Amino acid sequence: MTDAAESIFTKIINRDIPAEILFENDRVIAIRDIAPQAPVHLLVVPKVPHYSNVTELAAGDPELLAEIVATAHNLATLHANGEYRLVFNSGETVGQTVFHVHAHVLSGGLQEQSLA
Ligand code: ADP
Repeated sequence: MTDAAESIFTKIINRDIPAEILFENDRVIAIRDIAPQAPVHLLVVPKVPHYSNVTELAAGDPELLAEIVATAHNLATLHANGEYRLVFNSGETVGQTVFHVHAHVLSGGLQEQSLA
């Protein structure tokens, strides 16, 4: 069942709206954030729509949370120097706007790698 609260990420997963998709499997999708807050700003999103924040996800499906963390690491290795911040906004007052849990993967990007 879809309802009026279908998230922007579900629309991206269903190809109803476009996004730059960097990785996808049966369980997660990774996209580039449309309004980057760092040189590399990616989002890792579980395909199931019903966890609104990381606390619910951790309680309901810890393996899926672990897969999100592993995917973040892989993306940071491919798109940055392997180092990253992982941010889950949880709640309106700390800035969460999309209530379909997602990890922000933030990094300085490849240009910050030491070539020495
Ligand atoms: P915030 O908007 O404060 O970062 P969230 O933690 O809920 O709140 O993050 C939602 C993220 O989704 C934002 O970083 C926003 O830029 C991103 N976003 C919204 N729409 C799209 C889109 N169509 N494609 C890619 N990223 C998007």
